[in-house]
Amino acid sequence: MSENRKQRKIQEKSKVSEDDIVLAEKWLVAFKNPNSKKNPQSATFIRQFYAPGFYEAYDIVATYAEKLKLDILWFKEKRICGYTYINNTYPQLESFCTYCNNKFNHVDPIPCTKVDCIAEFCSKGCMVDHYKIRHKF
Ligand SMILES: [Zn+2]
Ligand SMILES: [Zn+2]
Repeated sequence: MSENRKQRKIQEKSKVSEDDIVLAEKWLVAFKNPNSKKNPQSATFIRQFYAPGFYEAYDIVATYAEKLKLDILWFKEKRICGYTYINNTYPQLESFCTYCNNKFNHVDPIPCTKVDCIAEFCSKGCMVDHYKIRHKF
């Protein structure tokens, strides 16, 4: 009896300390742009973001969808998504242009054409200017 109680105490204690650590999980969200003139497949896109829990994730997704007038198809912790999702890297929910520092929500950020450069841009103009300065045309 007392042994059981001791055991339970230990379990409770380890549970509490686990809750104390707020780990931000990586989440994936799939949106659909109902106003897109593209075909339905390309109007759907996936973004990734960090949130410590479901409610925070929901909040982030709902705010974003409202702001950009998008439909939420689904959102899930990345680690419980399928193999193909886990092994893919998706653009952040909100990207910053490496060149002009503007926040942008394009369907697809424009990557630098230099293969080993991870910079992303809001426009082709920013990409070209960055290329001239950083990689020399
Ligand atoms: Zn830019
Ligand atoms: Zn670059």
